[in-house]
Amino acid sequence: MPGFPVLSQLLHFLLYPRFIRSLSEIDTRFHVDDTCNGCGICNQVCPADNIRIIDNKPVWQHHCLFCLACINLCPKEAIQLEEKHRNKRRYHNPSVPLKKLIQIQSAFDSPSDQYYG
Ligand code: SF4
Ligand code: SF4
Repeated sequence: MPGFPVLSQLLHFLLYPRFIRSLSEIDTRFHVDDTCNGCGICNQVCPADNIRIIDNKPVWQHHCLFCLACINLCPKEAIQLEEKHRNKRRYHNPSVPLKKLIQIQSAFDSPSDQYYG
């Protein structure tokens, strides 16, 4: 269909940046509850260097990749996406021990630079 690629490119041009922006700020929907003990594992597993530990609690920096590693790997299950997700099961890949994942993440200085320059 002639014209479709142009329309498609136009929609991509108009909508994609908005989509990426909304994704990166999706962490505004995360919150941490009182069971957090400040261990810092969420900070260590985040591939986007998107979590700072401030006053023993994670604070998200709004360049999230929405990988959900922080939510799934928090040992206290203290991070909730939304209240309705509390007590939902977390996924841990049995082939990738937490220690190994932290080693891999720490091999990168500032991984977020790869995605956000
Ligand atoms: S991994 Fe969980 S318990 Fe540890 S600092 Fe992050 S939110 Fe708190
Ligand atoms: S671990 Fe994943 S979901 Fe959590 S803040 Fe980092 S990029 Fe976002």
